[in-house]
Amino acid sequence: MSQVNLESDIKVRNLSRIYSKASITIPAIHDVTFDIKKGEFVSIVGKSGSGKSTLLNLIAGLDKPTSGTIIFEGNDMAKMSRYKLALHRRFSVGMIFQSFNLIPSRSAIENIILALAFGGIPRKERKSIAVSLLKSVGLDHRLHHLPNELSGGEAQRVAIARALANNPEVILADEPTGNLDSITSKEIMDMLIKLNKEHQITILMVTHDKETAETCSDKIIRLKDGSIIRTLN
Ligand code: ADP
Ligand code: MG
Repeated sequence: MSQVNLESDIKVRNLSRIYSKASITIPAIHDVTFDIKKGEFVSIVGKSGSGKSTLLNLIAGLDKPTSGTIIFEGNDMAKMSRYKLALHRRFSVGMIFQSFNLIPSRSAIENIILALAFGGIPRKERKSIAVSLLKSVGLDHRLHHLPNELSGGEAQRVAIARALANNPEVILADEPTGNLDSITSKEIMDMLIKLNKEHQITILMVTHDKETAETCSDKIIRLKDGSIIRTLN
């Protein structure tokens, strides 16, 4: 295993995200502070509605905080231009979702090729990179299947390959095993653990599964009503 840089990768400080709907305000994330070090595997747990997805989306640069800061590899995300934020979403983070979020009309390989195109990879190189990415997740026999022709586990493996397409430093996974049976869940978890251990990719994963969180994480952050109520190291 190569040397892991233990500098803090993501610093979250007094982060809040308040949604306003008509006359009510919902503090989905409220005054949250924590650090994630490079190469750490961090799980976020908590009941439905506790703010887990909101937190992940803020770090992904898909949403903006109401107050507080996220310093991502030394860069204050609030100070990033729209262009810098687009680069952040494209190259710094790879996202994996419970519902896979593949493009339904595109085959497995086309889903990856599209991500590579967005990442600026020259056209003639895309296909071979996509094949090797799908091979790395054990799917080289499913290149031309559409998402609805894949099992849940296979679809999630395509999504992992897509998340890796532009070499992110961090993978943000929102309940990646939420739609999978227990055996398939374990396969997907083993894949994430391998990416973390062998490739030093930082992983921030939302999960409902306490046992999964306990077996794979360096740190577990528990959210309740938008606040951190406990951190386990
Ligand atoms: P979790 O992922 O832990 O289930 P979320 O982060 O999705 O929780 O949501 C946290 C809270 O914020 C919930 O009360 C939810 O209803 C509310 N919320 C989430 N997204 C929005 C939105 N776009 N507009 C208004 N309220 C929202
Ligand atoms: Mg959620």
